[in-house]
Formats: sequence, C-alpha cells, structure tokens
Amino acid sequence: MMSARRCNVMSTSVNATIATLPGDGVGHEVLPEAIKVLDAIAKRFGQQFEFVPAIVGGAAIDATGQPLPDATLDIAKRSDAVLLGAVGGPKWEGLDYSIRPERALLGLRKELGMFANLRPAKLFPMLADASTLKLEVLAGLDLLVVRELTGGIYFGEPRGVEATPTGKKGFNTEVYTTEEITRIARVAFEAAQQRGKHVTSVDKANVLESSELWRQVVIEVHKDYPSVCLDHIYVDNCAMQLIRDPRQFDVLVTTNLFGDILSDEAAMLTGSIGMLPSASLGDKHAMYEPVHGSAPDIAGKNIANPIAMIASASMMLTHSFHLVDEANAIENGIFSALDQGYRTHDTQSPGCTTIGTKEMGDRIVEAILKS
Ligand code: NAD
Repeated sequence: MMSARRCNVMSTSVNATIATLPGDGVGHEVLPEAIKVLDAIAKRFGQQFEFVPAIVGGAAIDATGQPLPDATLDIAKRSDAVLLGAVGGPKWEGLDYSIRPERALLGLRKELGMFANLRPAKLFPMLADASTLKLEVLAGLDLLVVRELTGGIYFGEPRGVEATPTGKKGFNTEVYTTEEITRIARVAFEAAQQRGKHVTSVDKANVLESSELWRQVVIEVHKDYPSVCLDHIYVDNCAMQLIRDPRQFDVLVTTNLFGDILSDEAAMLTGSIGMLPSASLGDKHAMYEPVHGSAPDIAGKNIANPIAMIASASMMLTHSFHLVDEANAIENGIFSALDQGYRTHDTQSPGCTTIGTKEMGDRIVEAILKS
C-alpha cells in the first residue's frame, strides 16, 4: 500500500495555483484549515500549491461595492481551481438582490462555465447518531448527487410576472437542450466509473416533455459507458426512496431544480451540514466549497466544523488534479480524527472530546503527517 502510494507520488506531481476566497462569516475560519491541510499534503507528497487570496461576497461589497469584483473574477479565471468558504450575512440582507453577496456565486458559476454540481453524501459510522434516520437504514451510505447547474427552470425564458384581467400570472420555463443533458450525463457516468458503476437518472418523464428528452439523451449517452448500470426514477419516488432506502443509490443525476431539492435531502441523511463538501465543475474551471453558508450565528467563535471545507479540498485534489492518493490521505485524516473521538460543537456526543475549528484542523493535519 505504502509503496504504491510513493510510486504514484513520484509519477504525479503538480504545481497548482489555487484561488482562495474565504467570503464571509465562518468562511474566514474554515478556509484556513483547508489550506493548512493542503500544506500538509504538499509536504507529505511533494506537491506544490500556491494560494492566491481574493475577496468575495459581503466582504467584497464592503471593499468595492460589488459582491464579485473584476479582480476576484480574474484571479479565479487564472487559477487551476477555486476554493470558496461561504458568502452572506445579516449585514447585507437589506441590499438589492442584484448586489447581494449570494450573487457572487451565480456570477462565478456563470463566468467560469461550471455546469455540474457534485455533492457526495457519505456516512461516517461514528457520526450515525447525528442523523435523524435509523442506523440500519444508513450504515454504509455513500452516494453522489450530480446536479445540472446552469440550465433548467432557474434560467429558462420566458419568465416573469404579468398582469391578467383577473389578477397576475407568474411563470418560468423548464428548458434543456441535448447538449446540456449530454454533458451532465457524461459527468455522472464518469463519476460512476470511479465508484459503484451505477447511475440513477431522476426525471418527471411521465408529465414533462423536457424530462422525456432528458431520459432519451441519458439513454443515448449511456451507450458510451457499458460498464455502468443505468436506471431511471421519477423525482417524487426518488425523494421517498432517499428516506426509505438511500443505500440503493450510487450516483444520482438530475436537473437544476430537482437537484437543488434532492441534494439538500441527501445531505441531511448524514447529520451535520458542517460535514458536507461540494464541487462545481465546468470544461475549464472548477470551484470547491462546503454546502453550508456563512453561519453568522457561530462565526468568530472558533466552533465551526471545518470538515466540509477540508473535504471540499479533497474533492479538488481528485477532480482538478487527479491526485487520488492525496485525496484519500485527507479522507483518512478526517476519519482518523473522528475515530479518535474528536468532535466539533455541531457533532458533539457523550464520551467524545469537543474541540474548536483550528484544533480539528490540527488533528487532521497530524493524522495526515503520521500515516
Ligand atoms: P448556514 O448554512 O450558514 O447555517 C445553517 C445552520 O447550520 C446554522 O445553525 C449554522 O450555525 C450551522 N452551520 C453552518 N455551517 C456550519 C459549520 N461549518 N459548522 C457547524 N455548524 C454550521 O445557513 P443560513 O443560516 O441559512 O445562512 C446564513 C448566510 O449564509 C445567509 O446569508 C445565506 O444567504 C448564506 N448562504 C451562503 C451559502 C454559500 O455561500 N454557498 C449557502 C447557504 C447560505
């Protein structure tokens, strides 16, 4: 095992530039822990990571009046990957929607062409009691939601609210092209090839024409991935099955709207939002961020769980740099810290040792350097 690792280190060496955007609130606490962990990975495996910090979200509004300043976008575009903490907070809630901190996320997705959102939901056995579901339903849970991110009803035209003779009419349009479906389906099949080789495509083909096309295109793309098993499920049934028997799934691929809802549902199977990483991928760029927001209620107290951010860095190593051994070292480091009974505030449990954000980062670094 060790010699295989060393061999891989010799053969795969990267010198990567990573844009680091802490954003707001706990973003400033969890991102430094991910950087600390990546420094440990660089030391142990002989990789080189250069971190280029930039402002985004509320911090950028305060400094420049814009949630996504040109200088930040430029740094993100010139980097090999982007690591983002979280944006937003009560201070900026009264602003017009067009310049709210959260607009920076939409801007980054659009400008960097990131059309696929990957959210793994994996149960760490020692945290099983943090979930609201029974252990026998969850034990061994390890699924990935692949959500289309730049199409569908959130962007379709026409959209709006119009006056009618009897009141008003609000409308949006669910629209998908063959090209959009093809590229997200490929992301799902390729991810499944590295996992359990099983893709479940989620649609509403019994009611929606756009879903009918979705299903046809997914079936067509599947022909290029014969080693992967494909099945289809209606979104309402999927929502139910995620609670009834989530272990039946390996990779779920779905539209922007369905994915928005199902990925939150899948995420909560594992207990704490502070554990959940995500990746947003495009043809040229990729961004990695925790699923959680800026958590203003706990910001500045050194109690936020940094694991979602650290696991996002692990996803970056896998998807942007193909450093699988290094990504596994982070996963093992997280497992080891939890296995030794260390917990942050959100996952504390009787008999375990509650530690702070920085201390959890330290325990994971120690585990990486020791292994
Ligand atoms: P949130 O995810 O920030 O917090 C929800 C709950 O989870 C809070 O109780 C918080 O304390 C807890 N929590 C979040 N992250 C945690 C962590 N790492 N460790 C421990 N506990 C954690 O969601 P919210 O309160 O609805 O939103 C707060 C702000 O964040 C808002 O301005 C919102 O718009 C923004 N937001 C940003 C993103 C993003 O940047 N991707 C995502 C969601 C929300």
